Amino acid sequence: MKLHEYQARDILARFGVTVPDAKYAETPEEARAAAEGFGGKAVVKAQVHAGGRGLAGGVKLVSSADEAAEVAKSLIGTNLVTHQTGPEGAPVNGVLVAELTDIKTELYISIVVDAEMRTPVIMASQAGGMDIETVAAESPEKIIRVATDPVHGLWPYQARDIAIALGIPPASVRSAASLIMNLFKVFTDTDATLVEINPLVVTGDDLVVALDSKVDIEDDALFRHPDLAKLADPAQDGELERRANDAGLAYVKLDDGSVGCMVNGAGLAMATMDITLRAGTNPANFLDVGGGAQEDKIAEAFDIIVSDPDVKAVLVNIFGGILRCDIAARGVVQGATASGSLVPIVAVMRGTNAKEGLEILRDSDLNVTFADALSEAAPTIARVMAEAN
Ligand code: GDP
Ligand code: MN
Repeated sequence: MKLHEYQARDILARFGVTVPDAKYAETPEEARAAAEGFGGKAVVKAQVHAGGRGLAGGVKLVSSADEAAEVAKSLIGTNLVTHQTGPEGAPVNGVLVAELTDIKTELYISIVVDAEMRTPVIMASQAGGMDIETVAAESPEKIIRVATDPVHGLWPYQARDIAIALGIPPASVRSAASLIMNLFKVFTDTDATLVEINPLVVTGDDLVVALDSKVDIEDDALFRHPDLAKLADPAQDGELERRANDAGLAYVKLDDGSVGCMVNGAGLAMATMDITLRAGTNPANFLDVGGGAQEDKIAEAFDIIVSDPDVKAVLVNIFGGILRCDIAARGVVQGATASGSLVPIVAVMRGTNAKEGLEILRDSDLNVTFADALSEAAPTIARVMAEAN
């Protein structure tokens, strides 16, 4: 689950991380009052679940309270399009008004779990303020990675080494190291999947401040954090993500693809994506219906998949177990009929009641092609899509 910057900065502050003084505002009047509190000089920042706001005009420096109100008025109620949002952007329902920070240098620091190293890893770079993916692609040597001990966590000497590697002025290394220790505590105590500060800045007075705050929380740990679960903002999700979430389905939209993938289970989702890619076709999305789905839920899943305008064919890949293939097939027929979708379907069904499932699809009016195995599904999808064009 993603948090807004204004929520993440509150958490950071609670853990002793230095952040600029700031107030969240949902109206121009609130923004004006907040800026007045900072003597008029402030930065007004659109609150959306996406980075890249600066380049998209969502972060503006203002020099008076009136200007803060004007900027808030121009942002609130609009959709902000950044390189991290889709073309439709994300709705701005509020702004963060922060005191102006006198920036000397912009640094980068983040904490994620590294799947290969199987432990939280700290990534840091002197190339802060920029898009870190670009830095990673063009000058990977500018990013340092420090693996933490999976049991103990981060040692103070490691935090100090990172501060030094970041080029923090000697007099501020101790406070920077303690900030990094506190960031790590945020990561572990909130069950975060990501804590990212870009930029972490050194001010004119050599103070080290987290100027931007990004914290994502592991969905499966939210039951342990009811206070954090309340911070969810479904308005930031696309309509299809929201519907999937309501139905208890795991839906992921992917860029530049045209095959909708309905699967049961994360492993099968990955295999399905690999298979479609190998056939030279790209997945547009994948939707994991999970184990115990009923017909209605499968129907909603199918409807969500074909509501994505990028989808030109659907690969239904079900391994019957707890979810029986005949139930999945009935759900697909129900969903396809309700949505009126005409996109071709390629179906692979194995396991419990596979024969019944395939018969239900065969006897339906749907445009279904069958594949006996996953490996065969790939060329079949490619052929069906070529024929449809
Ligand atoms: P993002 O673009 O969504 O990552 O938004 P950020 O919060 O990182 O802000 C983008 C950029 O705005 C930063 O990298 C800074 O260069 C600039 N900025 C943000 N706050 C301040 C501030 O208080 N003072 C100054 N001088 N620049 C700021
Ligand atoms: Mn940023």
